[in-house]
Amino acid sequence: MDKQRVRRLEKFIAPFRVAPGADVNLCRDFDPRFKAGIKKKKAGVALLDEGIRMLAEYQARLAAQDTWGVLVVLQALDAAGKDGTIRHVMSGVNPQGVSVHSFKVPSAEELDHDFLWRYAQRLPERGQIAIFNRSHYEEVLVVRVHPENLRRQKLPAPTRKGDVWERRYREINDWERYLSENGFRIVKLFLNLSKEEQRTRFLRRVDLPDHNWKFSTADVRERERWDDYQEAFSQMLSHTSTEWAPWYVIPADRKWFGRIGVGAVLVHALMEIDPQFPKVDDERRQDLLEVKALLEAQAPAGAALDPFEAALSSS
Ligand code: AMP
Ligand code: MG
Repeated sequence: MDKQRVRRLEKFIAPFRVAPGADVNLCRDFDPRFKAGIKKKKAGVALLDEGIRMLAEYQARLAAQDTWGVLVVLQALDAAGKDGTIRHVMSGVNPQGVSVHSFKVPSAEELDHDFLWRYAQRLPERGQIAIFNRSHYEEVLVVRVHPENLRRQKLPAPTRKGDVWERRYREINDWERYLSENGFRIVKLFLNLSKEEQRTRFLRRVDLPDHNWKFSTADVRERERWDDYQEAFSQMLSHTSTEWAPWYVIPADRKWFGRIGVGAVLVHALMEIDPQFPKVDDERRQDLLEVKALLEAQAPAGAALDPFEAALSSS
């Protein structure tokens, strides 16, 4: 049954997956309005609810097994819905098993280290899911589009020779490979928004007083660099989608669909890990039975020896 489910999910997320080695041109290859034949938002919401339930179940097992960790990398342009996606998709999971970190402009201390340093500090523990809201990929996105960011990183002259970006792609791939070979599954999601939908969402943030805080005039300046970002994203997808950590480009013009897409890729990753509750061996079972006998012997007069077992068998 589960095998069938995995295959169904695989088929659903296949159009989002960037084949390792593919030469991606974002606007040619991916449609932000794609909705996989789901006609109505209502049908989509039912699917998302199922996904949220499955995530919760798998996350509980992941935590109990305490062996694998999961790193979710979320990248997007402004207003593509990163925050809302995290809020919705993760709404069913136990907060104790999840951490979210939003990466901002690097601090002086962070700039005093190698570029992956600050991301390494926030990696998940085994049994945990860590979400990077923006990530090490900003190092080949905003840093590439605005080279003054690179100058602030104080790289010694010999390390600035050659193609810095090609080198960073390789270093990122190597780092992710190391992590996945050590039991950390990396799920990379790019929320793909159209320029026109971004314009509408910016206007919404201006028009609705409760949303003003989400809007900064710097966002409009970044929008002017739209084409440069599309190119930087295309390059990133072409160079860093690997067998061990492939990228998924999630259509994001419809918020509800973006959330289903993200949920589906995440559930699929967890299904592949297939975490299990730890098995109780015979010795441990014997221990548990001895404890049970002890506790039953402490039952006050008139009380059931094991009220829980009594309730179990009557239900
Ligand atoms: P927000 O996600 O709206 O809170 O904004 C965070 C800001 O931090 C964005 O403008 C990013 O471009 C910026 N940022 C994130 N990572 C880096 C980085 N490595 N170098 C420079 N700026 C960054
Ligand atoms: Mg912002």
